[in-house]
Amino acid sequence: MEFYPQSLVSLIKHLSKLPGIGEKTAARLALHILRSSDEDAKALSRNILEVKEKIRFCSKCFGLCETDPCKICLNMSRDHTMLCVVEQPNDLVALEKSGAFKGLYHVLHGALSPMSGIGPDALRIRELIERIKTDEIKEVALATNTNVEGEATASYLAQVLKGYPVRITRIATGVPVGGDLKYLDEITLRRAMERRESI
Ligand SMILES: [Zn+2]
Repeated sequence: MEFYPQSLVSLIKHLSKLPGIGEKTAARLALHILRSSDEDAKALSRNILEVKEKIRFCSKCFGLCETDPCKICLNMSRDHTMLCVVEQPNDLVALEKSGAFKGLYHVLHGALSPMSGIGPDALRIRELIERIKTDEIKEVALATNTNVEGEATASYLAQVLKGYPVRITRIATGVPVGGDLKYLDEITLRRAMERRESI
């Protein structure tokens, strides 16, 4: 890498900080950017700044949005009595793509993981309980991942929400154990949502 000019080395270093990008790929991407038109390179750099400036979390569901509340929370044709709890914003996107769910979401921003020191306070659980208390929620569908952390989070939530007058469901076994929601194809995901069961 020391054979590249300084500014290119810097770009490669920054790109290699991205998940899944090693130094080789970073160099390939940097050279691609270098070869691209001024217009494309400017648009890319502008876009990076733009997402940092504009994107925020919806104050209701904690999904990503540019205007708060997000479009999903504001959409009155959706079922506002149903909440689907997911770990990350890209899980919400996966479910939206599948078309399986027409209610509202609640993004936890993680899963319980005592090993990594992630307890209930690190997730948006308090806000979830607040929504259940104040909004007229009838069902909470737990769509956390089916790995150890996701399952632990689902059982913790089922326990915590027991005292509230809501039906609590868990997405069905169509989701392979250890599965990460965002990697599922749309049909599997839709089936898992349709066949959710009370817990
Ligand atoms: Zn929202």
